[in-house]
Amino acid sequence: MIYLDYQATTPVAPEVAKAMAPWVSEKFANPHSPSKWGNEAEAAIEVARKHIDRAIGLDGGSIAFTGSATEAINWALKGAVEKAPLKRSRIITLATEHAAVLDTCEWLAECGIDLTVLPVKEDGLLDLELLDRELDERVLLVAVMLVNNEIGVLQPVAEIADMAHRVGALMLCDAVQGLGRLTIPEGPDLVAVSAHKIHGPKAIGALWMRKGAEPAPFIHGGGQERGMRSGTLSPQLCVGFGAAAKLAAERCDRDYDHVQRLWDAAMKALGPGWTINGSTAQRYRGNLNIRRDGVDAARLLADLRDIAFSLGSACASGSGRPSHVLQALGLDYREARSSIRLGFGRYTTQKELVDACSQIAAAARAQEHLFA
Ligand code: PLP
Repeated sequence: MIYLDYQATTPVAPEVAKAMAPWVSEKFANPHSPSKWGNEAEAAIEVARKHIDRAIGLDGGSIAFTGSATEAINWALKGAVEKAPLKRSRIITLATEHAAVLDTCEWLAECGIDLTVLPVKEDGLLDLELLDRELDERVLLVAVMLVNNEIGVLQPVAEIADMAHRVGALMLCDAVQGLGRLTIPEGPDLVAVSAHKIHGPKAIGALWMRKGAEPAPFIHGGGQERGMRSGTLSPQLCVGFGAAAKLAAERCDRDYDHVQRLWDAAMKALGPGWTINGSTAQRYRGNLNIRRDGVDAARLLADLRDIAFSLGSACASGSGRPSHVLQALGLDYREARSSIRLGFGRYTTQKELVDACSQIAAAARAQEHLFA
């Protein structure tokens, strides 16, 4: 199989598997118990916390572990609302955010929050003037992601945070697809990240919180994570996330250059006739979301079972819902149905990517002949 679905998840790095191994097989102590073994587990978790904090790279805050980035985002949004002063009852977000943000915001709207979902331009980017017109003293929080998971475009997070702060609002950044790949810009008050997108284990994420901007506690119980997110931490998952973050920070430039070269090789191997969905300039290049007139992407996927890639038109959950992101760019049904997403990164070789892209291009051309 050629794996080209890096936005869905990434292969676990060998270094991560090695770091986790003793915590899976031998070391089972509860990290919150006062025994020598408990202390050892707690110390390993604190080392991991430092690595993740460093990979996020922002000053003036700290992280709490969560079970996923989805949980971190739920916590940030619901916890901010719970602590909000009476006059701040508005949330602003974008039509292209991940379901973790959009669905949570919709739920908050049902509970009485005034929700504004801003459209994006044809290239997937936010019009900052539009945001400026919407911002006022009633806004509690602005939620915008750094790198879009479906189309890879990069939103101007620093500028957005600055604008939010000018009216006294908080800024939440979903940096799931950006961590370890790009520098997270200064500005956000809350940042959600996930281990399995950076070659770490699944089912662990974190919420970075600027000091003073912490949302209300999310899970009550044993008082772990400074009383904000109770529940016994998993040393194996925390250590795995820490090892993945350390590696990502160390390899960030090398991985970035590798991805740039892969992008160029993929574009060449695909040949003419493809249109890139979303901005090509403001983009993380490990995400190639493309469409081609007359192609049935679902059929392409069925024809090429040995290549793991995604339909550009289906949302990441695989629910069959049409992509809200491609709709937000203004693509019609036919264009969305002819879109595919290729995601590649650290462990993708140029040879396998070129091989996969050549197969995809040939299968697309074969469809043209079939339906001509
Ligand atoms: N945000 C973005 C941009 C994502 O790509 C994902 C995962 O698909 C999430 C949030 C949710 O992350 P997790 O799988 O850790 O809940």
